[in-house]
Amino acid sequence: MGMGMLVRAGRLLGHWLLPQTCAHCREDLNPDWSDPLCGPCRAGLPQARPSFCLRCAEPVREAGEFCRDCSGGAFACSLIRAAFLYQGPVPGLVHAFKYRGRRRAAEAAGRWMACLLPGLPELSGHDAAAPVPLHPRRLRERGYNQARLLALQVGAAAGLPVLDLLARVKPTRPQWGLGRDARAQNLAAAFQAGPAARGLSVLLVDDVCTSGASLESCAAALRRAGARRVGAFVFARQTLQPSEN
Ligand SMILES: [Zn+2]
Ligand SMILES: [Zn+2]
Repeated sequence: MGMGMLVRAGRLLGHWLLPQTCAHCREDLNPDWSDPLCGPCRAGLPQARPSFCLRCAEPVREAGEFCRDCSGGAFACSLIRAAFLYQGPVPGLVHAFKYRGRRRAAEAAGRWMACLLPGLPELSGHDAAAPVPLHPRRLRERGYNQARLLALQVGAAAGLPVLDLLARVKPTRPQWGLGRDARAQNLAAAFQAGPAARGLSVLLVDDVCTSGASLESCAAALRRAGARRVGAFVFARQTLQPSEN
């Protein structure tokens, strides 16, 4: 029996023991199907399209505008771009790689982010990609940092080295359910960057951006360590107040 047949037999056995289902609609997936979403759900991923805020990717009415929160502010993270909106099949997919241990779903999500890079020229010109880190305890529980899996795909497509420039030095409470000020407080000094960040233009990579508070906290740590510029690319943008723009 050849190697290919063994691999296929192994996959079939794995599928029989634990059939893979679409992370969104839970349809059974064919054992030869390597994506975490079925075809229709994959096609239904809501791409984040303009117009969005020049800085934080919050949807805005007109191109070339800042959203209310970004206008007039100075930010350590000068630019945030998202591949998709946190809608449709996206929450199920994120849940699969964040809470259900589906590491390969994160790899697929990273590939889908990388596919959209050519349409986001404002994200070019960085020296390195850096994942938003997990607290070591969370990393032990999950076995992988999903942001790092995304960063590996994005870095490979953009020709950037992936550097672990940041450490999470303080466990934070989950961000959901917290107001904007509480989020900022929850995150203050949660991250630290090492001297390797000095002089670099860094592209932060994360799974979901809600208020942008964790990205800003990471960027502030990188700037304190001497990074020249920090931008961010996230898999999905969750908008807090979709009706207010
Ligand atoms: Zn599906
Ligand atoms: Zn904004």
